[in-house]
Amino acid sequence: MIEIKTVKEFVENADSIDFDDFISSVIEKCEKIQSKYQPFITINKNHAKPKKGLIHALPVSVKDCICTKDLQSTAGSKILEGYIPPFDATCVTKIKQQGGVIIGKTTQDEFGFGTFNVNSKYAIPKNPFDVERSCGGSSGGAGCITAAADFPHIAIAESTGGSITAPAAFTGTYGLTPTYGRVSRYGLIDYANSMDKIGVIAKSTYDIALMLSIISGYDPLDSTSADLAEQDFTKFIGKDIKGMKIAVPKEYFGEGVDKKIADLIWEKIKQLESLGASYEEISLPMTKYAIPAYYIIAVSEASTNLAKFCGLRYGLHKQLSGNFDEYFASVRSQGFGEETKRRIILGTYARMAGFRDAYYLKALKIRTLIIQEFKKTFKSFDIIAAPSMPVLPLKFSEIENLKPIENYMMDILTIAPNMAGIPMISVPAGLINGLPAGLHLMADHFNEAALIKASSSLEGLE
Ligand code: GLN
Repeated sequence: MIEIKTVKEFVENADSIDFDDFISSVIEKCEKIQSKYQPFITINKNHAKPKKGLIHALPVSVKDCICTKDLQSTAGSKILEGYIPPFDATCVTKIKQQGGVIIGKTTQDEFGFGTFNVNSKYAIPKNPFDVERSCGGSSGGAGCITAAADFPHIAIAESTGGSITAPAAFTGTYGLTPTYGRVSRYGLIDYANSMDKIGVIAKSTYDIALMLSIISGYDPLDSTSADLAEQDFTKFIGKDIKGMKIAVPKEYFGEGVDKKIADLIWEKIKQLESLGASYEEISLPMTKYAIPAYYIIAVSEASTNLAKFCGLRYGLHKQLSGNFDEYFASVRSQGFGEETKRRIILGTYARMAGFRDAYYLKALKIRTLIIQEFKKTFKSFDIIAAPSMPVLPLKFSEIENLKPIENYMMDILTIAPNMAGIPMISVPAGLINGLPAGLHLMADHFNEAALIKASSSLEGLE
């Protein structure tokens, strides 16, 4: 049974598999992959018989910041080491209801703080295309296992500012970041609540559409989840894209973007044109303000979210000693990594009386302008096309030498759509010097259908 490689074939034949044999061979494979590439923080070895459903017995990996009942969930942080949630996140409940099997928790940057998945106390995933290179982040483990697995599998990931697009682009996989509110965040260990989105990394558009159909929908446990009818997104696969209007923003092909990647993405846009779409070059002048505004909002929200890890109720505990400040400081100095501390300090500063208006409130205004700019664009266009990442997968040795600001600049192509909460998909665009690059397609709020149509139309074309 394990000879079946694609999710589609697997779900169509799921009734005929011997579950125990199948799952033990999948776990064995995961262990081999782990020793080579390190995609997991935890591999799950306890499996009950799965329910009958849309994805009966299908292996699913879950990013570690998403709570899974009875399975350690650390969000990549030492401060949550050993935390075993007593409940499932809503998306995990939905996956289990449809018969999905949680094979493990994938590694990530601590709380999602990073672009290359090197800020982790646990595993640092290695790129299956070249082990000296990063898988992208922060959902690096999700990209890594998707690229490395030779068995049917789908990964659940999460993005605040690009954490699904970056690893999908770096590992040659498909990565969908849904519209903010499309998928319930209940059970997600927050990074920045106003921007966090749970999404999917997989090997084909079909897999993405199938999983989105399962995990999306209104959830009374998440007041920001959108009250929309559930739908089957697989019906958009292979639908004609004749007449589709594509906007190509010049800011996404400019300074800092590898010329070879830009050229490859243009080839893909021309392919979409040959399938009946039309394109026009446009300008999105707000793009340049996105990174500074994002990092103010993200670190402000993160620093308040992380205040609860104070050594009393949540996370790492120690022998009580000294006054509260001393105890709080000692638990947090031990439990948080360097990048997390940097962000807590920045976020606390940006929210302080006197600075709030100058930084935080200003950043929120910029976000509104960015949303308006996208909304205006989608009045005349169906999708926006751009490169997913400005660079090919970087070597770990190159990442080490990046200064924090240079590191944050790697998010130039992903931050604005993530801030705006619009849906986006990274589609494998081909290889450059043996390394994968991604085409980024973005659409208006709740128009995932356009992304699925366009992405699937490119499948099978060279
Ligand atoms: N690289 C961005 C950050 O560090 C985005 C990461 C994410 O989406 N979690 O904030």
